[in-house]
Amino acid sequence: MTKNAVFWLREDFRVKRNDALTYATLNHENVSVVYIFKKQEFEKKREAKQWWIYKSLLNFEKDLDNLNINLEVILSDSYESTFDKILQYKNFSIYWNKIYEPDFLKFDEKIVLKLGKKNIPYKIFKGNVLNEFNEVKKNDNTPFKVFSPFWKNAEKIYLDKGFSRDSLPKKRTSKSKFLKEYSKKEDVFKPANWQDKFSEYWDPSEKEASKILKKFLSENIINYGDQRDIPSVKGTSRLSPYLASGQIHVETVWEECEKLKVKKRGYRKFINELGWREFSYSLINYFPEMLKQNLRKEFDNFPWTENKKFLSAWKKGLTGYPIVDAGMRELYETGWMHNRVRMITASFLVKHLRIHWKEGEKHFQNCLVDFNSANNTAGWQWVSGCGADAAPYFRIFNPILQGEKFDKKGSYVKKWVKELKEIPEEFIHKPWEMKNKIQNFELGKNYPFPIVDHQLARQSALKAFQQIKKN
Ligand SMILES: Cc1cc2nc3c(=O)[nH]c(=O)nc-3n(C[C@H](O)[C@H](O)[C@H](O)COP(=O)(O)OP(=O)(O)OC[C@H]3O[C@@H](n4cnc5c(N)ncnc54)[C@H](O)[C@@H]3O)c2cc1C
Repeated sequence: MTKNAVFWLREDFRVKRNDALTYATLNHENVSVVYIFKKQEFEKKREAKQWWIYKSLLNFEKDLDNLNINLEVILSDSYESTFDKILQYKNFSIYWNKIYEPDFLKFDEKIVLKLGKKNIPYKIFKGNVLNEFNEVKKNDNTPFKVFSPFWKNAEKIYLDKGFSRDSLPKKRTSKSKFLKEYSKKEDVFKPANWQDKFSEYWDPSEKEASKILKKFLSENIINYGDQRDIPSVKGTSRLSPYLASGQIHVETVWEECEKLKVKKRGYRKFINELGWREFSYSLINYFPEMLKQNLRKEFDNFPWTENKKFLSAWKKGLTGYPIVDAGMRELYETGWMHNRVRMITASFLVKHLRIHWKEGEKHFQNCLVDFNSANNTAGWQWVSGCGADAAPYFRIFNPILQGEKFDKKGSYVKKWVKELKEIPEEFIHKPWEMKNKIQNFELGKNYPFPIVDHQLARQSALKAFQQIKKN
């Protein structure tokens, strides 16, 4: 065994259930944590996530400090060239946990060859999933494309294995440095950006993730089945950004759920959502082309439209449909959006405006603190009807009825679309039908008229859908 070890930090900003980090501390005298920050992956593309990573680095550094472990950051233009520089170092071993994205897994293979040539010891550990994606297959060895049989199978495989052992890293007697040159964590993020306000809503740390989970399990999971679709209440866990950057391991989430004395409908529904996350990872790894293209090929002929004005109105939350606008503004303000509203806003873009799902995927990618390729791509393709086990394209969400059903009193709309706060409840989701005048409010001046008419947009979407069936 070498004296020095590196834990290559990627999407696992946690001490608990971090197999690669624990292994390094149990087997080596000197351990350093190295994070490679590739600017091009974030700037103008994943700005919300960039903020999250920056804060995560600052918080994780403190956690590692308690273990006498140094966190070293390298700013990089390419993972490969940075890795080549690291490979020039002598006498060390390296460990990391997998990221279940095809490009990352391919990169692992490349690195392994290089490490082998240089005789550098390494070990790759399971990442933040329940099962390795290739453990779950149909009897005929092909991947699942439908959620229910996938999850029945995946859940059984996981439960048969049992929860993995949750061993903690060992504290070092003294700190050691690995890199000769490294960057300041502050260089990862320029202050005074639009994402700065996220600090009011999030604390990207392992401690906060545990706190949120504890609170959710003691107060909310019981009603999760009924409240998970109501965006004005905190009915869901809001653990998604912590899961995406690995402040908490999904096995820990499930293990804590298992400790509940009473397991009702809420528990079952919640565990199933963890299943959807697993399903997304399975899909993008078995069908990596879906990260760029429609999974269902017939959608390649869909007549999408290009309309910069509509796309911009959608992004800014100025479509004139209150529930859509509230969602888009929640996203811009907090870096997160409620799942029900993600479905409504996404459906509005691809069906009412007939703008390609890739435009929406790109915008969410830039604005979500919980962005991950698997869930985002699968989510967009599910809404658009071109994904696996997707909502049929012809089922078109009516933004007025969706608002009236899931935001009955309009509290969610009033929270995010301040100009509508005086609108009476009965018109909150259709302010254009209001006959009486409201002081200081004029439709078309303070808030836009709907940019498209719901019925006409619906008919036009259905007609477009007929076209792909003809081809
Ligand atoms: C268009 C669209 C884009 C999306 N993009 C993302 C994304 O980039 N990152 C992301 O994490 N989720 C994405 N989702 C899925 C879902 O909206 C979020 O995971 C959820 O809103 C997170 O809130 P929560 O943590 O309170 O979820 P909870 O309801 O508390 O669920 C617990 C966990 O289960 C997982 N989960 C829940 N719902 C889903 C789902 N439908 N698909 C897959 N996993 C799920 C998440 O990891 C979540 O944290 C997207 C959904 C849609 C419709």
